[in-house]
Amino acid sequence: MDRRKKAFLYSLPMVSLLPLCLFTGGPESPFRFVFFPLILVLSRQLAPNVLFVAGLAATLFFPILSLFTRQPIPDMPVFLAEISAYFLTSLAAVHVSRSISRERDRYENAISTFHSLSDALNYKNMNLQTTLDALSEAHKKLQEYDKNKTTFLSNVSHELRTPLSSIRSYSEILLNYDDIDNDTSKEFIQIINMESERLSTLVNEVLDLMKIEAGKVELNMSTVNPARLLEEGEKIVKPMAIEKGLSLEVEVDRDIPYIHGDRNQMIQVIVNLLNNAVKFTSEGSITLGARLQGDFVEFYVADTGEGIFPEEKEAIFDEFYRISDVVLHRPKGSGLGLSISKRIVEFHGGKIWVESELGRGSRFFFTIPLAPGNEPSRKEETRTTDIHVNAIYRPILVIANDITIRRALRKKLEELGYQTLGADTPGRALQITRSMKPGLIVLDVSDDWDNFFELLRWAKSSQIRSILVSLHIYNSK
Ligand code: ADP
Repeated sequence: MDRRKKAFLYSLPMVSLLPLCLFTGGPESPFRFVFFPLILVLSRQLAPNVLFVAGLAATLFFPILSLFTRQPIPDMPVFLAEISAYFLTSLAAVHVSRSISRERDRYENAISTFHSLSDALNYKNMNLQTTLDALSEAHKKLQEYDKNKTTFLSNVSHELRTPLSSIRSYSEILLNYDDIDNDTSKEFIQIINMESERLSTLVNEVLDLMKIEAGKVELNMSTVNPARLLEEGEKIVKPMAIEKGLSLEVEVDRDIPYIHGDRNQMIQVIVNLLNNAVKFTSEGSITLGARLQGDFVEFYVADTGEGIFPEEKEAIFDEFYRISDVVLHRPKGSGLGLSISKRIVEFHGGKIWVESELGRGSRFFFTIPLAPGNEPSRKEETRTTDIHVNAIYRPILVIANDITIRRALRKKLEELGYQTLGADTPGRALQITRSMKPGLIVLDVSDDWDNFFELLRWAKSSQIRSILVSLHIYNSK
C-alpha cells in the first residue's frame, strides 16, 4: 500500500472523532484522550507532512468551530493550553515520524544495497558456472580429439605398413632369387606396382584429410553450375566405368539453379563417389544426377553394386572405415574417400548420406546450398571455356595384354596431360570404341589377330590414327 493511501486510512478514525467532540462539547471533550495516543501511534506509520496537516487541522478545528457557531469559549487559559497541547503533540509526532522514516530509508537503502550485491554475486556465480561448463566441454573435446588423433595415427601407420611390407618382400624376392621364371616375376612386379599406387593414393588422401582438419584448405568459393560439375565428373570416371563394362548415365535438368561452392572440391566429392560406385559394382549401371530440393541442390550417385549393410551406413563415413573386405572380397581402398567427402560437403553447409539395399546397390546423396540470386558468375563463365578446350581432345586408347605395360603407358600419357582409356585385348577395345570414340589408338602387338585386324580396319574407316608398338619390360639382371 502506498503512503498516501495509508495516511488517508489512518486519519479516518481521527476525522470521525471530531463530530463526536461536537456533541460531547468543546475542547475538554473525550477527544483529547483519544487524540494523544492516536497521534503517537500514527507517528510510527504516517509521513511527517501528513501528520503535520492532521495535527494542525485538529488544533484549529475548535477555534474555527466556535467562530462559526458563535459559541463563547468557556475557559480561555484552559482552552489555550489544550490547543497548544494539540499543536505540540502534533509537532512531536512529526519529529518522531521523521526520524522513523529516516531510519527506515537507511534500512531500506541497506537492504537494496544488499540485494544488488547479492544479485551481482549470483550473476558472477552464473558466469563462473558457464565458464566452468565451457571449460569442461572443451576438456572433453580435447580428450576426444586426442583419442581420435591416436587412433588416426595408428590407423595411418597400419595402412602404410601393409603395402610397404608387401612391396618390400616382393622386391626382396626378385632381388635375391635368380631362378624365378618370367611369369612369376611379372606377377610380382604387378603386385609391387599396384601396392605402390595404393600407397601413393593413401598418402595423398591422408594429406588432404590433414589439410582439411587443420583448416588449411583454401576454398575458392564461386557460383557453380551443377550440370557442368556432373559433366566433368562423368568425363573423368567414364573410361574406368567402360573398362569395367558398366554404363554411366547422367540425369540433370539443364535449368538447374547454380550453387555456391568450391568447384574443385565439388568435383572431388563427385569423383570419389563415382570411383566407389565403379569399384564396388561388378555389373549393371551407375547413375549420376542432380535435382533441386528446397534451398539446396541434391546430387546423387546410384549403382547396382553390392550394397552396404544397414548398420554400416553411418560408419562408412568415418576415417579408415571399410566394410569387411575379407567377407565380401571387396577391392581394397584406404577408407578415407568418404570421410574426406563428408568434411568437404559439411564445410559447404550441406549433408551427405547413403541409402542402400544389400546385393541391390547403393545411392549416395549430398546437398550443397544454392547460390544467392542463382546467377552465373564471371568466374564460372571463364571456366566454361576451359571445359570446351578440354573437350576437343579425345582420349587415347591404350591396348596391351600385359597389365604392367598398359599401366606404364597410360601413366606416361596421363602425366603429359592426356586422358586415356585402357583395354587388355583388341576385342575389348572394339567394345569400348563403340561407346567412347578415342582420338588415337596405341596398340601393343597382340596375338588376338582377328580382332586386331578388325580394330585396325575400323580405326581406318573412322579416321582414327593408330600406332603399333612393341613394348618389353626387361629385368636388367
Ligand atoms: P575406400 O573406397 O577407399 O575404401 P571410402 O571412404 O571411399 O574408402 O569408402 C569406405 C567404405 O564404404 C568402402 O571400403 C566400401 O566398403 C564402402 N563403400 C563406399 N562406396 C560404396 C558403394 N558405392 N557400394 C558399396 N560399398 C561402398
